[in-house]
Amino acid sequence: MTLKNLLKIKSNYKPMVKCNRNLREIFQEGETLGKKINKSNKRVLTPSEIHEFIESEKGEIHYIDMLQFKKHQDIFDTTIYVHKDKLFDIIIPMHVLDITKRYKMIHEYAHYILHSSKGRCYACHKGNTRIEQEAHAFALGFLMPTDLVEKAEKMYKQDINWWIPFFLLPQKIIESRIEWQKNKNG
Ligand SMILES: [Zn+2]
Repeated sequence: MTLKNLLKIKSNYKPMVKCNRNLREIFQEGETLGKKINKSNKRVLTPSEIHEFIESEKGEIHYIDMLQFKKHQDIFDTTIYVHKDKLFDIIIPMHVLDITKRYKMIHEYAHYILHSSKGRCYACHKGNTRIEQEAHAFALGFLMPTDLVEKAEKMYKQDINWWIPFFLLPQKIIESRIEWQKNKNG
């Protein structure tokens, strides 16, 4: 669907609601799916592999530029519109850094899997709410599975400067995943 049409239909769509499932369970679901798609257990999924995966799920990715951004102030961050099962649109503002895009795509996909009931709805991202924690847990498992985290721990110890290019993710996300691992072991 075009961006213009997406903005028009918004009033007929409902905001998504949290699923309240156990966060560990959600993390594992993300991890299992990420590993199923990734044919290599040696490296992370590349941006194009993630793109292909979203497209194979009948998701379309739109990049919104600054002009459109100004016109449609209600889209101030990445978001997703779900139309029905296997049909959704993800919107990513162009100012989102490349290193953040993989995370954003899977975070939005997580909203589709966990919060859409595969009916007409959209995600509105507001702070560190339960619904955001749920999507985050799924994305962490998907993009940073346990075996690759253990591998990184062995190779790079605590040096986050190596973790960033290995996982192709921003520091904030990596730190959140390391915290997750600590809690698991603690
Ligand atoms: Zn979100």
